[in-house]
Amino acid sequence: MPVRVAVNGFGTIGKRVADAISKQPDMVLVGVAKTRPSFEARIAMEREYPLYVGGDGRLEDFRAAGLTVAGTTDEMLRQADVVVDATPDKAGREHAAKYAAANLKAVYQGGEKPDVAELSFSALANYEAALGKSRVRVVSCNTTGIVRAASVLRARYGVERWDVTLIRRAADPAETRKGPVNAILPTFQFPSHHAPDAQTIFPDLPITTTAVVVPTTLMHLHVNHVQLRRPPASVSDVLDAFRETPRFQIFRSWEHVEGTPQVLEYARDHLSPRGDMMMNVLWEDGVHLQGAELRFFQAIHQESIVVPENIDAIRAMFNLAPDAASSIAVTDMALGIRQ
Ligand code: NAD
Repeated sequence: MPVRVAVNGFGTIGKRVADAISKQPDMVLVGVAKTRPSFEARIAMEREYPLYVGGDGRLEDFRAAGLTVAGTTDEMLRQADVVVDATPDKAGREHAAKYAAANLKAVYQGGEKPDVAELSFSALANYEAALGKSRVRVVSCNTTGIVRAASVLRARYGVERWDVTLIRRAADPAETRKGPVNAILPTFQFPSHHAPDAQTIFPDLPITTTAVVVPTTLMHLHVNHVQLRRPPASVSDVLDAFRETPRFQIFRSWEHVEGTPQVLEYARDHLSPRGDMMMNVLWEDGVHLQGAELRFFQAIHQESIVVPENIDAIRAMFNLAPDAASSIAVTDMALGIRQ
């Protein structure tokens, strides 16, 4: 029997997770919940996803717009074994009691505080710890990027110290009310919230993070400076370590990928759904080594990087795959993720 999954919140993350669930061999999407009629609600209907009215939304507004509505969130939850909460930051916690009352497992997103769940999750790092769990939080986009890279570097070389400067996108492409339009905004909190978030998964990771927001919608870029415990033999050895790990895309010099616009153009050329890039993106030319001191750039597509992680979280919670490698293989095959 496939696991029955409901998605509460059908925005940037929720709509991608819903599409991803509908492609998995061992999961079935029982519905998605939205608060207001919108083009996204119409798309849910066109994809034949049962559409439910969430939050303070009103059935009559959907019906007046000509949208077919299956019922309210409570009715959706009754059909499900697990709910993926993809409502805005901090809203997930408000739904926790409702999910518990419905005896449902729940996956939360990185906009929630860690204690909303039994553990914070990133498949390469701690899949096995999520086996059989009832409440799992998939860490944010930037933290997912850091933790994936940490999974590789810790295992292969050990990490003595890691400083990351995060150059953060100002908004998602459809978010017309966010900015800045023309500014570079330092985040004065040090470390930024990303380091403690990464430590919810690797408590002993000696990492600090500094963040800056810039006027782009095309991905985040991390500037990494890592002191490794054991010096790699060469840059090629480091590149091989990433290449041998799922969910890393490494561009070569001759591909002329100068920055994030070409990364997303590549994803579109690849016919990736929505032009998404669900892998950490590195450049051969962007990896530098001096002894045990490693510097590398990586780009993170904020809208999609957590999508496969949501799928793996569900697979772990229902013991559908015994380890990270087997879950990732199924997820990535279904989503067309390939290096
Ligand atoms: P979003 O604003 O794009 O989408 C949220 C959706 O939930 C909207 O459609 C909204 O109408 C709907 N909603 C609000 N309250 C609801 C309710 N009570 N019931 C049902 N639906 C409701 O937000 P998002 O960017 O998808 O973020 C969702 C979560 O994912 C947040 O925790 C965020 O921090 C996290 N996240 C976002 C990104 C990103 O870059 N967008 C990346 C990683 C993680």
